[in-house]
Amino acid sequence: MSSLATLATPAPPSPNANPSFDAVAFDDAVMATYGRFPLALVKGDGCRVWDAEGREYLDFVAGIATCTLGHSHPRVVTAISQQAQTLQHVSNLYYIPNQGALAQWLTQHSCADKAFFCNSGAEANEGAIKLARKYAHTQRGIEQPVIITANASFHGRTLATVTATGQPKYQKNFAPLVPGFHYVPYNDLAALEAAIATLDQDHPQVAAILLEPLQGEGGVRPGDRAYFQGVRRLCDEKGILLILDEVQVGMGRTGHLWGYENLGVEPDIFTLAKGLGGGIPIGAVLCKDHCNVFAPGDHASTFGGNPFVCGVALAVCEAVTQLDLVTNVQLRGEALREGLAHLVSQYPQWFEQVRGWGLINGLVLRSDAGITAIDVVKAAMAVGLLVVPAGPQVVRLVPPLIVSAAEVQRALALLAQAIASLAVEAD
Ligand SMILES: *Cc1c(COP(=O)(O)O)cnc(C)c1O
Repeated sequence: MSSLATLATPAPPSPNANPSFDAVAFDDAVMATYGRFPLALVKGDGCRVWDAEGREYLDFVAGIATCTLGHSHPRVVTAISQQAQTLQHVSNLYYIPNQGALAQWLTQHSCADKAFFCNSGAEANEGAIKLARKYAHTQRGIEQPVIITANASFHGRTLATVTATGQPKYQKNFAPLVPGFHYVPYNDLAALEAAIATLDQDHPQVAAILLEPLQGEGGVRPGDRAYFQGVRRLCDEKGILLILDEVQVGMGRTGHLWGYENLGVEPDIFTLAKGLGGGIPIGAVLCKDHCNVFAPGDHASTFGGNPFVCGVALAVCEAVTQLDLVTNVQLRGEALREGLAHLVSQYPQWFEQVRGWGLINGLVLRSDAGITAIDVVKAAMAVGLLVVPAGPQVVRLVPPLIVSAAEVQRALALLAQAIASLAVEAD
């Protein structure tokens, strides 16, 4: 008995709230580049995830608009296991049939003619920036090309893409930044025209305009149709390339396959990553034939377009069309916005509006709300719903594209419960 009693003595209290996961050991070993929530996720299925203690959450983050088919979707599981048993990696020194098949799918389903594959959104934007610079040098004789981007944009964390990102907070302490970028307010055609006129005053310098069809990180701010059509017209008049960063909004998220379809324009170049692989790392640069100026040796990536990632991404792409997820996104998105608008009307002291397209939506807080997006995110987490801030004042909802009508209603009910709990605290 005594030995059993000894065995049954509880272990000394763990420094973590969560006994099955050691956050202290984690933080000892991993660089502190992220402000993390105290939550360790260990399992997922569809739109649900579970933490290390077995608590279930409805996942309206989806890896930040990345898990297109949710978690452990049978099509993704099958593609991963088949590809793992066949061929994972070979060099781009050789033809990779899966890469060709994925490029064909993407070019057949978009305005682009050619694809290049890399591993992330930042890397895709780097590739697009290099392509636009080479085009300016070789086709227009521009020696110091300038790329115009928007304030509050987000294009990635490498040096060139963090420079392209029009948010000083991401650039602080990383000077010297990459030369050749200029920023304008988003959705403001007059400001863009004025910037081009100034930059091109003595001789043409503006090589490209790089924009998100809808600013994701910058606060779920949809692009204005008239603005983008004006941008397209300016580009055509002056020989400037229009690059659209579709990293967050591509692959059906907006209720169209590509974000640019919401705007009635076609880009010369666009970039993809997040949703393309449904959770495995892949990025892509797509372009039309007229700006396809890369030649052998110009650009490369060891892992880019390998048999494994392309096999899985192709399965994700085929699922999006075969399961008609674009229609699902439209219907679920409408219901979600309707429910969110109801919350705005219930709590006018806190919320200003709902904005977004398809299944990328933002619940926008008033600047004088007295609470921030993080407060709402934490309250939602406490009742079992994962949502993500987009800046200090916007709560972003980006569920998997397979989300059901019932799951949308469940998310709205949980969010209402979370906000009610904040209201009780505020009283
Ligand atoms: C996430 C994101 C990026 C960066 O992608 P990474 O894969 O994190 O490098 C670039 N542009 C947009 C619009 C994004 O949302």
